[in-house]
Amino acid sequence: MKRGNTLYVVVPCFNEEEVLNETIKELKKKLESLIKKKKISGNSKVMFVNDGSHDNTWKIISDINRKDKMFTGISLSKNEGHQNALLAGLMTAKEYADIVISMDADLQDDVNAMDEMIDKYYDGSEVVYGVRSSRKKDSFFKRITAQGFYKFMKFMGVDIVYNHADYRLTSKKALDAFSNFNEVNLFLRGMFPLVGFKSDVVYYERKKRFAGKSKYPLKKMMSFAWDGITSFSIKPIRMVLSIGVVIFVLSIIMLLYCLIVKLLGQTVAGWTFIVGSIWLIAGIQMLSIGIIGEYIGKIYSETKQRPRYIIDKNLEDKE
Ligand code: UDP
Ligand code: MG
Repeated sequence: MKRGNTLYVVVPCFNEEEVLNETIKELKKKLESLIKKKKISGNSKVMFVNDGSHDNTWKIISDINRKDKMFTGISLSKNEGHQNALLAGLMTAKEYADIVISMDADLQDDVNAMDEMIDKYYDGSEVVYGVRSSRKKDSFFKRITAQGFYKFMKFMGVDIVYNHADYRLTSKKALDAFSNFNEVNLFLRGMFPLVGFKSDVVYYERKKRFAGKSKYPLKKMMSFAWDGITSFSIKPIRMVLSIGVVIFVLSIIMLLYCLIVKLLGQTVAGWTFIVGSIWLIAGIQMLSIGIIGEYIGKIYSETKQRPRYIIDKNLEDKE
């Protein structure tokens, strides 16, 4: 089967006037070279998503669109955050494209990794993850916090590709399947692995932000990690249940201990009763919270209404 070859590069932008002109230059060079090598069709485009910027971002996007049809864009009514902006771009682009690559506006992701991504797409991958081979160019602080982020996510039971952010190729087929995920709390890098299909990774060196400031300060990053965990994993609930079981077992031991101490006559009046009750009640409470949590966990998975299966191949379909 010959695979479609129209590429859309989706770039979410929030107050990126300082970098946008450079991004436009770089992407134009890249797309032209890809078109020349016949890897992508001549009507491939860059689609900017203006995420409610307060600066000249949208003006730059609409100006370049007027001058050069290789560039197009959509503008959201207000700032919705990186993940929502990206989703808006992906879902819009999939209507025009066969291949969609998402990347940040700040040129931290190496555009030269696109060649290899597209090769892997032609080899049959529906999702190709860009993975940072090193973080030498990141500040010490960013490196430590970001690596901690991935490790903590893994520990909390979220299956994500290590050191992969949102630089990723997705085929139209993957995006069509993805559009069946209706959840509101988005954590795209954790959701694409759920789509299944053949996937691959491409390594690239992550660069410094070309200009402007990071829109992900520590506070946002922490809330992003927390969002990721609570939207993907009921491990925290399970932890409460485990603690409940442990405390409950401990409380039985404590009760026995209290009785023994009492029988040995080494206690003041009322001690056994008070200490014993504290442990028993705490144990029962923790256990009960854990059990209620299990049910909440079930409600949580049900309300997401994630697709229960995605069909990869159907021999009845004629190509
Ligand atoms: N971004 C966005 N909406 C926001 C915040 C960020 O569209 O509310 C975009 C931003 O313009 C950039 C990308 O998301 O293209 C990633 O942001 P940034 O580079 O600041 O994050 P970092 O690389 O520092 O993690
Ligand atoms: Mg960045």
